[in-house]
This record gives sequence, C-alpha cells and structure tokens, in this order.
Amino acid sequence: MSIKYNLQHIRATIPAGVTLVCVTKFHPAHTVAQAYSAGERIFGESRVPELVQKHEALPKDIQWHFIGHLQTNKVKFIVPFISLIHSVDSENLLAKIDAEAAKIGKIVNCLLEVHIAQEDSKYGFSPTALTEFLAARRWATMKNIRICGLMGMATYTDNVEQIRGEMQLLKQLFDRARKDFFADCEWFTELSIGMSDDYHVAIEEGSTIIRIGTSIFGARS
Ligand SMILES: *Cc1c(COP(=O)(O)O)cnc(C)c1O
Repeated sequence: MSIKYNLQHIRATIPAGVTLVCVTKFHPAHTVAQAYSAGERIFGESRVPELVQKHEALPKDIQWHFIGHLQTNKVKFIVPFISLIHSVDSENLLAKIDAEAAKIGKIVNCLLEVHIAQEDSKYGFSPTALTEFLAARRWATMKNIRICGLMGMATYTDNVEQIRGEMQLLKQLFDRARKDFFADCEWFTELSIGMSDDYHVAIEEGSTIIRIGTSIFGARS
C-alpha cells in the first residue's frame, strides 16, 4: 500500500479534532516528502540528529514534534524550530528547555510524559511524581515553556482492556491536573496517546494527539 493510501485510510477514521503526528523516525527524507505531498504538515521524530537533518532537508512549513527521550545537552539543537516536545520526563529537562528558549526569546510548547505502562523501559513521570511536581509549582516560574498537556504510551500488548485502563488513568491525571493547576490556562488541552496499534482505543479514551508511524510508512528497518 502507498503512503498516500494509508494516510487517506487513517484520516477517514479519525475525528476532525484529533491531531495526527506522522512519525518519521528511521525513514529517509524522501519518504517523509511523500507524506508532505499528500498534505501532511506535522511530523514526529525521536532522535535529535535525525530530526535536525530532516528539518534542514525538508520544507520549512513542517511542524516538527519531538517524541523521544531528550538529553539535556541536545535541547539547544531543537529549541529554535520545534513545535511541540511531547516527552518532557523530568523537572531538570523542563528547566533546560526553559533556559535555552529564554536565550533566543522563544516560548516552547511541551507535554509532560507520564509512565503508565507495565514496562520498565519507558520514560516518564510516575503518576505520583507528576502530582508532586505539579504541586511544587516551580514550573510556574519558567516563563519560556508552556505546559500544553500530557503524553503517555500504553503497554505493548494484545490485551485491549489493559491498554484501555492505562489510557483511562492518563486521562484522569490530565483532567485532575487541568482542574487543580491549569484551570485558567487556555493551552493545557492536549493528551498525546495512541500509536499504530492502539490509536482507535486512544481516541475513544480522549486522546487529542495520535502519533503514528508504522501504519503510514510501513515497518522500520
Ligand atoms: C515510534 C513511536 C511512535 C510510533 O509508533 P508506531 O507503532 O510505528 O505507530 C509513537 N510514539 C512514540 C513515542 C514513538 O517512539
């Protein structure tokens, strides 16, 4: 199947209010260009060098999202052009993004990544750590970042009820955070969950952003 066909199929099954991030990691720029030709403008990458390379090679009206684990020493390379960093998993990282953004007079949109899966390998705040971090309110003094919502990844499993339960937990955390900390904040609106295998469930559970690679571009080598 072609990229264009895959995109038409996905676009036909997602509601208008849901943002599609085309995850292009490990795919070459000319493959990304096919999705661009099909009308897509939001692309996600998980490694800084690959993202910087593609940002340079591809049209400048692309909105790049960073979705992988971000090391503090690489923040400065993406801050000048990034549209949204999904994967802020520590206060230290958020402070670094704030500092780099301040240097160039920018405000960087961020999501806080929450660890919801039953897997050790995934990054993110635990639900408890998230609540503690928000309650301490040091983030409120960081003027060059904007916390736009939460991001998470469900366990990689066939057990749909488990996936659904993890997503519901994240949605509850999101609703509570909005009520307790971001009630006056018009940009705390995004919930980034859902990948190729679970995006239908994610949309049912309130996801506003889905991140899809394999179902658009095929398997990564
Ligand atoms: C790779 C990746 C995706 C896309 O996964 P697919 O299963 O290929 O759709 C989504 N989110 C994150 C954080 C990723 O690293």
